This record gives sequence, structure tokens and C-alpha cells, in this order.
Amino acid sequence: MDISHLLDDLNPPQREAVTSTSPAIMVIAGAGSGKTRVLTHRVSWLIEVERLSPYSILAVTFTNKAAAEMRGRIETQLNMSTRGLWVGTFHSIAHRLLRMHWREAGLPQQFQILDSDDQKRLVKRVIRERELDPAHYPPPQVQWWINNRKDEGLRAANIDAEGDHYLSTMVQLYHDYEAACERGGMVDFAELLLRSNELWLNQPVLLKQYQERFAHILVDEFQDTNALQYAWIRNLSGKDTQMFIVGDDDQAIYGWRGALVENITRYEQELAPVEVIKLEQNYRSTQTILSAANGLIEHNQERHGKNLWSDGEEGEPITLYAAFNEQEEARYVIDQIEASIADGADRDQSAILYRSNSQSRAFEELLMQRNIPYRVYGGLRFFERAEVRDGLAYLRLVANRNDDAAFERVVNHPPRGIGNRTLELLRAEARRVNQSLWTTAQNGSAWGLSGRAAGALQKFSELIEEIARECADTSLADSIETTINRCGLLEHYAGQRSEKEQARVENLEELVNAGSLYQPDDEESELDPLSTFLSHAALEAGENQGDAWEKCVQLMTLHSAKGLEFDQVFLTGMEEGLFPHSRSIEEPGRLEEERRLCYVGMTRARQTLCITHAEARRLHGDTRITSPSRFIREIPADHLREVRIRGQVEAPVYRPGSSLSSAQPTANGLRLGQLVAHAKFGEGVIMDIEGDGSRQRVQVEFSEVGSKWLMTDYANLQPQ
Ligand code: ATP
Ligand code: MG
Repeated sequence: MDISHLLDDLNPPQREAVTSTSPAIMVIAGAGSGKTRVLTHRVSWLIEVERLSPYSILAVTFTNKAAAEMRGRIETQLNMSTRGLWVGTFHSIAHRLLRMHWREAGLPQQFQILDSDDQKRLVKRVIRERELDPAHYPPPQVQWWINNRKDEGLRAANIDAEGDHYLSTMVQLYHDYEAACERGGMVDFAELLLRSNELWLNQPVLLKQYQERFAHILVDEFQDTNALQYAWIRNLSGKDTQMFIVGDDDQAIYGWRGALVENITRYEQELAPVEVIKLEQNYRSTQTILSAANGLIEHNQERHGKNLWSDGEEGEPITLYAAFNEQEEARYVIDQIEASIADGADRDQSAILYRSNSQSRAFEELLMQRNIPYRVYGGLRFFERAEVRDGLAYLRLVANRNDDAAFERVVNHPPRGIGNRTLELLRAEARRVNQSLWTTAQNGSAWGLSGRAAGALQKFSELIEEIARECADTSLADSIETTINRCGLLEHYAGQRSEKEQARVENLEELVNAGSLYQPDDEESELDPLSTFLSHAALEAGENQGDAWEKCVQLMTLHSAKGLEFDQVFLTGMEEGLFPHSRSIEEPGRLEEERRLCYVGMTRARQTLCITHAEARRLHGDTRITSPSRFIREIPADHLREVRIRGQVEAPVYRPGSSLSSAQPTANGLRLGQLVAHAKFGEGVIMDIEGDGSRQRVQVEFSEVGSKWLMTDYANLQPQ
């Protein structure tokens, strides 16, 4: 058998990792050292050389995109279909299990997935129903709290809140929330995993079947698993299951969401003896990028430390650009990207990374203006757009009338005369009789609704029933088309002719396309296509959709860049308070996590890395003067090259010997050579002036703190 194609392009420790027969293996290695590649090759190796059926392998990846890529690569390597191979994220695998074993899991067959927005709506409702003050129990916080408990494997009934008023209220809310989900047959993201872990615990026969099925479990990005994911994996691994995990403690970036990097040590102890394999050669980045990233991460105290080297080229220095503000930052970045595209680079080889989602807008606007196709990961994607979610809510009701979140979303959208008061009464009654909103709405006049309100609800119910009848026994695409055409949303938006409304209509039409292109996984093909499509939409909402589109410039948060690589990377918004994020500056542990996030960002770059920061930034409605991120200082200076574009200079630059006093004052009265005072920096002399109006900034040589560039509008300089 010729196995060279599986091993030829691997170094010796990588080969060991691919071929090892140890019962427990752990590859702990730095960024770009080939961990994901090794994991993929190992799956191919097991199938082709060890002759295992794909059916007996489970591979857990971090995103659905990574899963699709992995499957594609394995199929190319083996030149065969990998039907039966389970590869996916924890969530998607747990979801598949619950779909297959809904009865054992205590769920209705048509259970729906509640995305984070629906979840918040439901949480809000239970807070309101307990008549609690949302100021003391803010819905996002309660939602976060519930999800964290679920991630720890705890149900409301398992939490002991004895004597603690706040805690017992939270538990009560958790309890109400669980009951509402139960009534509606709804499952949130954290629940997917919790419930499938309970499936393991409560159904030993079923568990044994899976333990025997999966001879191999492989997990990528293990450093970011949480307690529940760890337990889930451990429960699933039987006595003969071979475990293979890969990870990097320097890239642990989900501590804030309950991930436990300690799971690496725990694994090593619990599965001892574990074969530990280290990979030290980085194949991704230039030496400069790698040394800069290594220099940064050395500032973390808590790390195992490892050597990572590259025999690639030295590469260009990392460029550092200080922009006036976020718009100018975007302009610089997009200029660079345009130039690289003009030089023949692929658009999808440029990535703009940022710490917070909202930063994408400035880049998006400019990309749109210049007609450069781009894709945002981690922002509002197709399945998250309001109108798409409205359309999906109708479909969800068609699939499951008891889906309260969907009911609430569309019962009066488009408006059909069902007011808030009616809804409040309906909610109260539903709670009293412990029924879904739908069921309760059926006999409104019997429990006290006015004839008009009951009639309006009745009409809504009839509409849904009619749509459901028309959808019965038709294809998925036809069902979606019927629902979208009949529900009234199209007319609602079409009536308002603005461009935005037009885009909404297009998005709804696109939903029909999405349905016709949708192909359920092999194992889901016997299930109801509408339910699987809806789950797919909910799971996909967190990620991008498909690769069929043209090549796009990539925009994403640093968190979603994990595991990916690009020729050219822009690390933007590197400012104190933004990155590191203000919430993390005070706590050493969180700050270290931010630094790891920066390390993740830097190590995404293959050829060139550019770091930018803006000196003034509009955030949450007001403009703030910022200072460069400490992470910039922590990168060894010899790897950085600062660029300053002087095209903006409009005033003469001070040169020794020139007559300062003759310099013309600018519109706001500042002139070169003028003595000024600043509230924080003290006295100084204006050395340079750039730009004008709101973009004007001045360079001041302060006697105490040295030279600084300041935005004139915000610096409030007092002439002396
Ligand atoms: P991360 O920690 O960022 O997830 P990783 O360790 O998973 O990184 P990979 O993505 O698997 O690293 O590999 C990084 C790059 O190096 C990929 O482009 C991969 O194809 C390439 N690579 C890995 N090993 C080799 C090798 N032995 N020879 C050539 N290229 C390699
Ligand atoms: Mg990887």
C-alpha cells in the first residue's frame, strides 16, 4: 500500500502523532505548528492504513467551517466519501445526538433551537413575570448566568441557594426559564450539550453503544473546552477508545466563557499514561512575525513555555500605523488591501481583525464604497438578520406551535391589531394554566379576552394552520416559499419602498434559496427536513455561510480568527481599553487572556502583519482620545516599523532655524512654536500641525513628558 501521500509532507514528530497507537495522545504545540494538519492526517491514516470504518471515528473541531474543511481534505486525501464519519463542533454533534434520540432525551421530536436572541427574549419574559426589576436583574446578565450554570453541568434543581437572596432569585429565574423551554420544546445552545451529557448519564445502554462505536475520539483546540465538554468527552470514551487531543495553552481565549485550560493537565492525569508529543516548528509565519509573537507572549507569567521556530524567510518588519481616528484607520487598511489586490493577491488572503464586533462598521462602509467584496464573520450574518429571523419564526411555528419565542416574535408582526395589553393577558394566562402561548390563545374569550382581541388571535392561528396545511407533504423549499409568501412579511416590507426595506425583501427571498440549497447530513436525512433546516439555521447563525461566494476580504473578531491563517493580517484598534479590553485591565488573569488573544491574532499572519491604532475613536456614541495598547510596547521594537503618511500635512513643519513666530495661526488660533498648556501633560511647544477641522492634530513637545500627537478638538490646549 502506498502511504506516502499521508506522511511525506510531515516532520518526524508530526508523523509520530499521526501513526501512534498509544491509547491516549496529546499534542501540545504552538500556533502554526501543524496541529490541525496532524489531526486531519490522522483521521485519513486510521481509515486508509488501519482500515477503520469512518463510522468509528469522532472528530471535534472548533467551528462548522473547520469541520467542513476537514471533511473535504480527508475526502481528497482518501479519494472516497466519508459517509458515517462524525466531524463537527461540540454543539453540532450534541444536536445530532438529540435529534436521533429525542425520546430518550425527554424532548419532543420537533424540538427547536433557541438562539441567543430568542433566549434573551425568553429570559426577559420570566423576569417580567416574577415582577422583578430588570435594573437589578438585567436580562443579559441573567442569560449569561444561566448559560454558565449549564456549562458547569448544573440545573436549577442542583443549585443550593440556601440563605442567599440574590442567588435564590437567580435560581428561581433559571427554574422558570427551564419550565418555559420545556413547555415550548425549545433547546438553547448550552442545553444541547447539557442534555446530551445527561443522555450519557441516564441511558447507560445507549452510552455503551456509542462507546463501542467510537474507537477514536479526536479533539482540536482542546485548551478551550469547558467543564461540560470535558465531562461529555470523558463519558463518551469507553475503555477501548483511543483519545487524541491537540491544543496550545498559549491560545486559551475562552476563559471568560468558562473554558478551563486546566483540562489539559487534567486529561494528562486522568488518562495517564499519556503520550505527549511536542511540535516546535512553525510552518505558517515569517521569522519576524513569529519572533514578535513570541516576544509578546513571554510577558505572560502563567504559561508552560515552549520553543517555536521557523526556517521560513525572515520576512518584512511588522508595520505599525497610528491613525487620526477610526475612519482614517479604515482608510489606511483598505488602501493597503487594495494595493495588494492590484499586485495580484487574492482578496480572501487579507484579514481585518478586531477585538469587538462593532469595529467592523467603519471598515464595512469603506469596503462597500469601493466595491470590494467582503465577508464579516461573527457579526450580523444572514441567519441573524431581523427579517430572516422573522421568516424563520413563522417556519418554526409551522413546525411546532408551542414555540413561544417564535410566537412572541411574529404574533403581531406584521401588525394585526394584537396589542401589548392582549399579549400581557395572554402570557399571564399561559403561565397560570401552564400551557404554551399558542394553546392558550385558542380560547381567548373563554378566559376573559375581549371579543376583538380573541378574534385577532384566532385569525392569526388560522393563518398559521392554513400555511401548515399547504406545507404538508411539500418539499422544504416549497414550504419555505409558501410560508414567506403567506405570512404577510413580504407585503409589509414591500409597502415601504426604502432601500433598506428592499434589502429585507431580498433577504426573505434568499431564505427560500437557502432552503432549496440545503442538504441535510446523511444521518439526518430521515428526519423532518424543516426541523433540521431550522436547527441548521440556528447553528449556522454563529458562523459564515458556505464558501460558494466569490473571494472576499475577511473581517472578523480575534476570537473567530482562531485556527485560521491569511497571507496578510491587519490587527486593528490596538488601543488601551479596547484591546486589552477595559473589563480585563484590572484583573491579571483576564489581562493574560487578552495577551493570548493578541498572540492568536498575530500568529494568523503568513507573510505580512500590520498593527493599527487610532488616536481618537468614536465608541458608543462619543469620541475618546486613546493611547496605544500596551501590547504594542511589548512586541520587541526591532520587529516593528512605524509608518506615517505625510500626505495629510497642511501646515509647514517646524525645522530648526525657521522663524516660528512668523508661522500662520490655524483657524482655531494655534500656530507652530506656540507655548500651550495641557491639563495632564503640562506645558509644551507646538512643533507640528497636521490636517484641519475635526481632523486636525498637533504635535506638542511637552517639557515633562516629551513629544505627543494630540487631536486639537479634544486636547483642550490653553495658549500661554
Ligand atoms: P493553530 O494553533 O493556529 O491552530 P496549527 O498548529 O493547527 O495552528 P496548522 O493550521 O495545522 O497549525 O498548520 C499551519 C500551516 O502550516 C498550515 O498551512 C499547514 O498546512 C502548514 N504545515 C503544517 N505542517 C507542515 C509540514 N510538515 N510541511 C509543510 N507545511 C506544513
Ligand atoms: Mg489549528
